[in-house]
Formats: sequence, C-alpha cells, structure tokens
Amino acid sequence: MVKDASKTLFALGGIDKEVHELSGQKVEIEAKNESFSARITAYRAKLEELQALHEESSSRQAIEETRLREEEAKIVERRKQLTTLGGAKSAKLIERELDIATRAMETMERSAMEALEIAERVFQERENLNERLKELEGEFSSDSEDGKGKVTTFTKQIDSLNKKRDNLLGKVDERLKNLYNKVNMRYPGDGISIVKAGACRSCFRSLPAQMYNQVIAGNMLLQCPGCSRILIYGGDSAGGSSGGSSGAPEARA
Ligand SMILES: [Zn+2]
Repeated sequence: MVKDASKTLFALGGIDKEVHELSGQKVEIEAKNESFSARITAYRAKLEELQALHEESSSRQAIEETRLREEEAKIVERRKQLTTLGGAKSAKLIERELDIATRAMETMERSAMEALEIAERVFQERENLNERLKELEGEFSSDSEDGKGKVTTFTKQIDSLNKKRDNLLGKVDERLKNLYNKVNMRYPGDGISIVKAGACRSCFRSLPAQMYNQVIAGNMLLQCPGCSRILIYGGDSAGGSSGGSSGAPEARA
C-alpha cells in the first residue's frame, strides 16, 4: 500500500517538476513580450516628442528665413531711396545707415542658420529613432509569433500534465494528498527526495539510522528532517543525481 503510494508520489513529483519548468518558460516568454512592449511604447512616446520638436523648429526656421528676406528687401529698398536722394545726405551718413542694417542682417542670418541646424538635427534624430522603432517592431512581431506558438504548446502540455496529476492524486488518500501538496507548495516541482546511502539527495542531510531503516522498509512515508521533502528510497549506492524525477524508486522485494 505505502509502496504503491511511494510510486504514485514519485510519478507526481516528476509531473510537477515538468509543470514547474514549463510554467517557468511560459512566464519568461510573457515577461520578454512585456518588456518588448514597454520598449516600443517608450520609443513611440519619444518619437512623438521629436515630432513635435521638429514641427516647432521647422516653423521657427521658416519665421527666421522670412524675417531675413524681409530685411534684405528693406535694405535694397533703402539703398535705392538713399541713392536717389543723392546729395541730401552725406555719403558718410548713408554708409553708416547701411552698415547698421547689414550688421542686423548678419545677426538674422546667423539665427536663421541656427534654426536650420536645429531643425535638421531634430529631423535626423527622429529618422534614426523611427528606424530603430521599425526594427524593434519587426523583431517583436516575429518573436511574439514564435512566443505565442510556444505559449500555446506549453499550455496544452501543462493541461495534459495536470490531468495526469489529478488522476494520480486521486489514487492517494487525503492525508497523503495534503502532505504532498503542502511540500510541493514549498518546493514547486521538487517535493520528493530520493534517499541514497543513508542521506537525502536534495539537502544531503544524513538520516538517523532508525529513520533510514524505515525509509528502506517502505512501510511509512517520512519527511526529511533537513528539508521536509517526502523521502523515497533510491538504493544504497551514493551515486546518481538528486531530485524527485531522476531515477525511479528502487524496486523492493
Ligand atoms: Zn532533505
């Protein structure tokens, strides 16, 4: 009876280990998708910012250029006026007025040039970001297709494992079921430990001699005094790996 229960618990441990691993992979894929989405959202927000900045700098550039052209036209007009006035003003005064106007125009030219540079820089920055965003979106869509497929497969596998799990749990009595669930909650997918050469293979605690004998006899299910996992006898050799799903419990006469 207890020996059957041992086998059932051992099988349960294997199933839960698999479920745990598959769930972990599922969560990883979902987390990756989330971080992708977050990055894309941040890129889009930044792109909008640059778009607004670009519009602003372009219109500033247009204003500066209009001012400059107007000033140029004004100077041309003034020069004509002054030339026709001829002797009314001294050549020196004419020279002075045009000089002031020219310097003002140079300042305007500089700020028009500056506005152009800013507009171009923002434009380039926006283009670069747009390209990176497209790359990221492409990567994301192929990755998430792949991810969706995997998540679907994992979900199916987990469902089918859970059915097997329920079936096995139905075979053990209530007390054992509760014990197993409790231990499995503490060590997800790793609630069963093989005992080899007198020690728990999960925490490597040596068992007291009497306990070890009880585990070998297999008349009752015991928990490791070190880690509280459910102990199942796995033979006398110290070799082999630890863990619930590796190595079947040794057949006993
Ligand atoms: Zn242990």
